[in-house]
Amino acid sequence: MIPGTFSAHLENRIAAMQSEGIVNREHVLQSAQGSQILLSSGKRAINLCANNYLGLANHPDAIRAGKEALEKWGAGVASVRFICGTQEIHKQLESRLAAFLGKDDALLYSSCFDANGGLFEALLGEEDAVISDARNHASSVDGLRLCKAKNLRYANGDLKDLEKCLEEAKSARFRLISTDGIFSVDGIVAPLKGVCELAEKYDALVMVDDSHGAGILGPNGRGTPELCGVADRVDILTGTLGKALGGASGGYIAGNKQIVEWLRRRSRPYLYSNAVAPVIAAISLAAVEIAAKSVELRARLHANAALFRNGLKSAGFDVSSSEQHPIVTLRIENDTVAKSMADRLLEEGVYVMAFSHPVVPKGQARIRTQMSAIHQREELETALLAFQKAGRELGLIP
Ligand SMILES: *Cc1c(COP(=O)(O)O)cnc(C)c1O
Repeated sequence: MIPGTFSAHLENRIAAMQSEGIVNREHVLQSAQGSQILLSSGKRAINLCANNYLGLANHPDAIRAGKEALEKWGAGVASVRFICGTQEIHKQLESRLAAFLGKDDALLYSSCFDANGGLFEALLGEEDAVISDARNHASSVDGLRLCKAKNLRYANGDLKDLEKCLEEAKSARFRLISTDGIFSVDGIVAPLKGVCELAEKYDALVMVDDSHGAGILGPNGRGTPELCGVADRVDILTGTLGKALGGASGGYIAGNKQIVEWLRRRSRPYLYSNAVAPVIAAISLAAVEIAAKSVELRARLHANAALFRNGLKSAGFDVSSSEQHPIVTLRIENDTVAKSMADRLLEEGVYVMAFSHPVVPKGQARIRTQMSAIHQREELETALLAFQKAGRELGLIP
């Protein structure tokens, strides 16, 4: 091949994306994560788009735990878990997570993306079927691609369609229903009660990726299954340590003893990738401790969400998100308007995310915000004023 041909090919594709208005601009932060952040422009902004729901990404207890772990355990193990890569801190975090989530055991991955990548293929084969929600996270979609089981997809949150798929999968040896706990564009809660009832009727296992729910939903913060009253009926939980439960990185699978034991022997990203860095394990352990007892942080988080949601609604915005989750999303529809809105808000010192095609279907653009327990009331009130100002200028509200 002529050198440069391939690069030119990629450049053309990037240019085509840009001309379609698909711009993936990364803001470089000059500060730690927080209720406000410092951008590389030197500008401070109120940050409304991190998954830092409980504010643990820069929490003093977590940082202290991380520093101590660095001294004690070093940078890492230079090994995968089963060779010589398991330290006590890994086992501690696994049992703490399992206890918090109400499961027998848990295993750690470098990310939830890896956890979902290593789950399905290890557990199921050609004779089996996975029935998955059509809006599941990319990591579950990719995980299923690696799995030989038949994959049936049901329309997002649609129990009738799920039942149809379960009928169709009746002859399979095992059936597994796979759904995200929360669909994150609009913070919509999956209908887990109905999912679990159908699972019982059709003798299926249930797997929930609760990346956006664990730590913040349900009376004890155990997540979406607890919120929906089906914590005992969900067989497999996957999730991230990069959102409410810490904010560094890492993921997990939790389930009964046999499932976890089997995955330790057969899940490829677990077997063939280095163990989570001990610093991160320690930070996550501190975060899970805080999340487990932190009724107050959760109360503040949900109060902030209610304040912000009600503020936007009473200003006349079209709020599309549910009332149960601290994701607060505005329906904007027009892609260009959504982008202009995000740009205007940033000028006003408020950092939000515009979702447009291809992240959401054409004509369904959104502005998504995410609340945190560490947002101060004044910060949210300032942000609401900025929303009103920008919204009026763009004709979104009267
Ligand atoms: C964020 C997210 C992931 C990815 O988590 P990582 O640990 O960052 O890989 C997976 N699934 C869902 C539903 C998520 O929201």
